[in-house]
Amino acid sequence: MLSGKVAIVTGGSSGIGRAIAAEYVEQGATVVICGRTESTGSETAEEIGCEFRQCDVREYEQVEALVEGVVDEHGRLDVMVNNAGVGSETSLDEMSLEEWHNVISTNLDGVMHGSKAALPHLLESEGCIVNVESIYGLRGGKGATSYSAAKGGVVNFTQQVSVDFAHKGVRVNGICPGFVRTPMTEGLLEEDRFYQFLESHTPMGRPAEPEEIAPLAAFLASDGASYITGANIPVDGGWTAF
Ligand code: NAP
Repeated sequence: MLSGKVAIVTGGSSGIGRAIAAEYVEQGATVVICGRTESTGSETAEEIGCEFRQCDVREYEQVEALVEGVVDEHGRLDVMVNNAGVGSETSLDEMSLEEWHNVISTNLDGVMHGSKAALPHLLESEGCIVNVESIYGLRGGKGATSYSAAKGGVVNFTQQVSVDFAHKGVRVNGICPGFVRTPMTEGLLEEDRFYQFLESHTPMGRPAEPEEIAPLAAFLASDGASYITGANIPVDGGWTAF
């Protein structure tokens, strides 16, 4: 249970972040979600019973203002979930430099921004960071150059920061989902060729639902995970075991 804990979930207005935020609310946490789009963020917040604040994770000043605002209002921060991200399916020869910079600044810089801004408060609360990574952070991903680079960076960032702060009581872990049915992937999953690729690479033969990722995010934030840090855990229907 997460009663009494205050959590921020970046990108909590949609998909996996929304499911994590809903699970945290269900388990008794006070939850603040963020995203760039006010309309969808406010709608989600009302539906699941949390608070929305607009923030672009690519901009450190905005992330810092988000974290400080939450601590000012709620008095503490126990859990920082760095989930906000964008997809990309481009191989190196087809990828533009603009795409590379956008994916890296959202998916890698964004995680660093959230972690750095939250750290002073997590040191006070002996709280934790949960990063939403990907199987593409553990393996090469077909046609996903910038995405794989960013996620690989986050996987190693998770281990590195966990080592530096383990003795100070802050735990840092990551979740590596396989393909999940969300707005990010809905177009891809409708393509027969892609679905066949997914089926043939996933022993369970199907994508996940966001609600199948959220329970691990809740466990990692709970006192039951008190001895787990530096772990990047696949939730992938067997993809990385194959
Ligand atoms: P999604 O449904 O598209 O949701 C992405 C969320 O991130 C939205 O709330 C979006 O809100 C927010 N976001 C995007 N850019 C942002 C920015 N610059 N600043 C703040 N918020 C931003 O995607 P999802 O599938 O749930 O993905 C969530 C995370 O899981 C990502 O890190 C993704 O890489 C990872 N993941 C997804 C899958 C999958 O198959 N779906 C698999 C492995 C890992 P706004 O657009 O309003 O900003």
